[in-house]
Amino acid sequence: MEQPLLGAAEIRDLAERAGIRPTKTLGQNFVIDPNTIRRIISTAKVRPDETVLEVGPGLGSLTLGLLDAADRVVAVEIDPPLAKQLPETAQRFRPDKADRLDVVLSDAMRVQQLPHKPTALVANLPYNVAVPVLLHLLAQFPSLTHGLVMVQDEVADRLAAAPGSKTYGVPSVKASWFAEIAKAGVIGTNVFWPAPKIRSGLVSFTRRPEPLAEVDRSVLFDVIDAAFAQRRKTLRAALAGWAGSSQRSGHILEAAGVDPALRGERLDVHQFIRIAQAAEKDRGEKLELDESVATPRGSSLGDKPS
Ligand code: SAM
Repeated sequence: MEQPLLGAAEIRDLAERAGIRPTKTLGQNFVIDPNTIRRIISTAKVRPDETVLEVGPGLGSLTLGLLDAADRVVAVEIDPPLAKQLPETAQRFRPDKADRLDVVLSDAMRVQQLPHKPTALVANLPYNVAVPVLLHLLAQFPSLTHGLVMVQDEVADRLAAAPGSKTYGVPSVKASWFAEIAKAGVIGTNVFWPAPKIRSGLVSFTRRPEPLAEVDRSVLFDVIDAAFAQRRKTLRAALAGWAGSSQRSGHILEAAGVDPALRGERLDVHQFIRIAQAAEKDRGEKLELDESVATPRGSSLGDKPS
């Protein structure tokens, strides 16, 4: 039989017990609607053998549902009173499953280690840091193969946007480097306490089984940041600062087979990869050239006239 999830009365009571008043700074909007929890978990397609990473468990609404659906839950919470209370909440509402929960008091944007390898990420993310948290976790925990996150609806659109659309930008390209991303629904404001002003969106992701290409991720992400920092400019101009000059950015773009007169918002992740690869190659060739100028072929200390 399905076990009950937390509703509005339980959530308010738990907040009082923890002595917390929800703050905007930490994006604290707690889900008070069991149907929303069921919907998140079924859309996330969590399997019973999985270890799920939950970011920002708050008062535990989603955590209890995840304990029912998965083998283990690792919950990363930044707010000490919430992190402290969560094991007690699990013990109280899921006594038979509470030992399968680990709570880590940490900032999810910086967390380096977890007690178990997570295979899925399922979270109602703190809205103001949703994108950096998602990108950090995808980079830091390669064992995460899929997931579902709730974010502001506008951010959900940005994450799932395709090249050429108005919402396409840095989050869209960086996220698609790691995974296939899709919008998976919209959630109204009245399922939260306190109710936020704007609606939320669900985003699902499936990590790519293999990296898309051999490329230094930090170089790739620098190109993406530079291309969108001045999104109205042509790529040649927008990448000039990053490349050192507009002549070099033009040269790199041509070597990558990308039209320097295009804007970054037209490019898909594969084209950004080609630019990063061309930049790495150009740099390698330049270094070789510099070395051969500094040490001409055949010259060595022994060749020097005494
Ligand atoms: N999962 C709960 C729910 O659905 O009711 C709460 C979600 S609430 C939108 C966001 C949660 O993330 C809060 O519990 C907040 O304290 C926590 N949080 C905020 N910033 C965080 C961070 N950088 N790392 C980890 N948790 C964070």
